[in-house]
Formats: sequence, structure tokens, C-alpha cells
Amino acid sequence: MSDTVLSVRNVETFYGAIMALRGVSIDVNRGEIVTILGANGAGKTTLMKTICGLMDPEKGTISFLGKEISRQEPDKIVRQGISLIPEGREVFPYLTIEENLKLGAYTRKDDASDDLEMVYSYFPILKERRKQASGFLSGGQQQMLAIGRGLMAKPELMLLDEPSLGLSPLLTQEIFGIIRRLNAEQKVTMLIVEQNAHIALATAHKGYVLEMGRIVMAGDADDLANSADIQEFYLGKT
Ligand code: ATP
Repeated sequence: MSDTVLSVRNVETFYGAIMALRGVSIDVNRGEIVTILGANGAGKTTLMKTICGLMDPEKGTISFLGKEISRQEPDKIVRQGISLIPEGREVFPYLTIEENLKLGAYTRKDDASDDLEMVYSYFPILKERRKQASGFLSGGQQQMLAIGRGLMAKPELMLLDEPSLGLSPLLTQEIFGIIRRLNAEQKVTMLIVEQNAHIALATAHKGYVLEMGRIVMAGDADDLANSADIQEFYLGKT
């Protein structure tokens, strides 16, 4: 079996007459953390939405585990093993932490209780507060809950949209540390969209740079971090 989990080919996505993705192609292989860097408005969220079926591409194809998924309903895509952790987290504020986590397993027919314990082992604060309403969690804890809920689906691929959004540098380090451990220990393949290029390139194996709807650079994360253009425009070095 091929090692390619996700293959996006020449995808074009529009908002009415506005072309937000202009022929995007990316690959994610099994076991990798891949990051998409890009400034505000580059098209990162649009790419995530197109992959998980919340938007339909006008042109191009998206294959997941060798099967074409473009233009399928989001629900069907989720059931095949893609889990999106959206920008802004979107936890259910009136449900408890544990209820939110259990909802993450709704597509599964097997018993998810081992995974609940696995999630709690990475995020002990969620276990401590499991009976509390999620609306009272801090931003960082909500991000932990959103990641935990995504893990409960036992996904083949996790899509994370701006996990550092609104978090302090310290919390960002903590979240990305857990992302690295989940990849190494639980073998979760991840595609991460991120404006914080420092942390994204330090975490990922591979990266792509999206500018105005086009991929303008691609390569190993280390090579990208050492490139003069990336250093100037994304890492703030001169
Ligand atoms: P951000 O970091 O701000 O989320 P992004 O890289 O995720 O940015 P997108 O949100 O994917 O960028 O937006 C890509 C382009 O599509 C932008 O030019 C944006 O103005 C446009 N766009 C996004 N959402 C809509 C919408 N609902 N209607 C019209 N245009 C939109």
C-alpha cells in the first residue's frame, strides 16, 4: 500500500467570483506532520475546508487513502478517517469536558473508553475538570479539548487549523509539544495550518508556503527554516 494518506491535486476553490485557491497541490504521507504556512488571507482555512468537504473545489482532485473524496459530504469524509480541529476550536460550551470528548467518538462503532484514557494521559487537566462545563475552560484548555475530541475519532489524518491562535507563547509551546508526542507515540498523521512559522517549522517534517492561493515553496521543514526568503518573510530575520 502506498504511504500517501492525502493527495491534493490542482485544486481551485472559489467564494463566488473570488478565487481563493489557484491550483493547489500537496501530499501528506503516513506518519508525517506537514505544515502549511501563509499570511492572513493566503487561503489556508479555505484549503482545510475544501479537504474536509465543507467547500467543494471547482477543479482538481483530493484523494484520501487512495480514494477520491472531493465533492463528498463532510460527514462521509469524517467517517473515512479525517478529523478537523477548526480555527477557534468550537467546543460545545454547555456540555461537560467528558461529554465533548465522547461526542468526538460518534462515528465509531467500537468501544472508545481506552482512547478516553489515552486523551486524559496527554491532557491531565481535562481529566481533573472532566465534569465541568467546557465554556469555563481557558483558551489553551479549549484547544486541548478540541485536539482531544479529534483524537477520539481515531483519525487517520488530523487537520489542525491555527492551533496557536490566541495562545500565549508558553501555551503554544506546550500544545505543539503535545502535538509532537501524539505524532511520535500515537502515530497520528497531521496537517497543520499555522501563521506562527517558527513553531510550525520546528514541529513539522515537511512544509508548504501558500501565498494568494498558490503554493510558492515546498520542502523539508529544516530546509525551509534555513531558506533566506522564509527567514525574511516568515521568521522575521533580516
Ligand atoms: P486567516 O489566517 O485570516 O484565516 P487564511 O489563509 O485562512 O487566512 P482564507 O480564510 O482561506 O485565508 O481566505 C482566502 C481568501 O478568500 C481571502 O482573500 C479571503 O478574503 C477570501 N475569503 C475567505 N472567506 C470568504 C468568504 N466567506 N467570502 C468571500 N471571500 C472569502
